[in-house]
Amino acid sequence: MEQKQCQILIVGAGITGLTIARELIHRGVGDIVILEKENALGLHASGRNSGVLHAGMYYTPDTLKAKYCVDGNRMMKEFCRKKKLTLHESGKVILATGPSEMEALYELKRRADLCGARAHIIDNKKLHELEPYAADSEEALHSPDTAVIKPVEVLRALAAELVESGKVTVHYGTTFKGLAGDNQVETPGGTIRFEKLINAAGAYADHIAHQFGLAKEYELLPFKGTYKQVARDRSFLVRSNIYPVPDLRTPFLGVHFTRSADGEILVGPTAMPAFGRENYGILSGFGRETFSILLRDSILLFTNPSFRQVARSEPRKYFKRFVFKEARRLLPELKPQDIVESEHVGVRPQLIHWPSKQLVMDFIVINEKNSLHILNPISPAFTTSLAFAIDMADQLLGK
Ligand SMILES: Cc1cc2nc3c(=O)[nH]c(=O)nc-3n(C[C@H](O)[C@H](O)[C@H](O)COP(=O)(O)OP(=O)(O)OC[C@H]3O[C@@H](n4cnc5c(N)ncnc54)[C@H](O)[C@@H]3O)c2cc1C
Repeated sequence: MEQKQCQILIVGAGITGLTIARELIHRGVGDIVILEKENALGLHASGRNSGVLHAGMYYTPDTLKAKYCVDGNRMMKEFCRKKKLTLHESGKVILATGPSEMEALYELKRRADLCGARAHIIDNKKLHELEPYAADSEEALHSPDTAVIKPVEVLRALAAELVESGKVTVHYGTTFKGLAGDNQVETPGGTIRFEKLINAAGAYADHIAHQFGLAKEYELLPFKGTYKQVARDRSFLVRSNIYPVPDLRTPFLGVHFTRSADGEILVGPTAMPAFGRENYGILSGFGRETFSILLRDSILLFTNPSFRQVARSEPRKYFKRFVFKEARRLLPELKPQDIVESEHVGVRPQLIHWPSKQLVMDFIVINEKNSLHILNPISPAFTTSLAFAIDMADQLLGK
């Protein structure tokens, strides 16, 4: 590795790291190095998500998610149009499948209004004009601004723009191993000095923050998101995206249907406790940390009722018949044989505030003298990324 020093060192070439780098070069920063431990883009959350640009209906207005989602959705669409990337502006519906869910449906509408997101309560007739096979719902919520993109396409376009600028160097296959004194990191290729480090390491962001003596009260716990899909010849059952009313006490959205940019109808994802931060297969991704992850899961089982609920109900969704049971609530015409296996799988790193044993529901940013840390980059961090990057650049450089 030639370059031994830089102004800004970013750890992680996921959507968070790449969009912050892009915003910084737009502000005139000319000396950025990105370290990416993998040899390719999109091998973790940024390349393994549902590809949905959320419209901003789920979040209370006091959150960072709400602050960035509406603008992030608009900016990512503009980016895709400008770069001629895949963009399906398909919208989505959220169904209340029983009277008990109406209150939560209205809460989502209220949140959308407060956050400036477009969302309309629609009747059963309008619902069936949009989604002819959806379950009857006295009232549903329609989000016209939800869209679908191809995440890896976006990552590649961003990385190409950065490299073409001549102001950013991306070192693939290069792991941040630790700090080697003040303002200096250790990598397998030697040490690099920096003026400011940005920790955008996704599932490992807590580890890196801990090395700076920060965020000791937080730990990331992995949750696996597996998907099934609707058999191709039955994909006409879903026109755009059909979601249930979620359990608003957890950060997960429930099993839903997404018409991906490739035309597949994804069903999922689940949110089951995983055994490793990169535990994508049944056994792959186990490592030295597996035991301590299991220990932390067990402690939460006893101390946190929402976690207990997730840990009890989610693992069975690994099996088709349980996914079918959930999915058919939204789509009564679905037959068991319509649900087929999918290779799509991701892991969501979920931050836990350890003293209170609570799942953290929002992004957390720590900006201290020579480093900025992005903790808990959970969904919708792909959607919000371009708007979030503006604030991160403001924090680094001043407005
Ligand atoms: C199943 C699933 C579905 C989702 N669906 C959606 C959705 O539909 N819409 C949406 O907006 N969001 C969605 N999300 C969330 C979204 O994908 C993430 O919030 C976002 O991609 C996080 O991006 P990131 O750059 O922070 O992290 P990552 O994508 O994980 O990137 C971090 C990078 O850092 C690298 N790295 C880690 N440690 C080191 C190290 N020590 N040295 C060097 N490099 C390192 C990793 O290799 C990785 O490439 C979903 C997530 C999952 C898992």
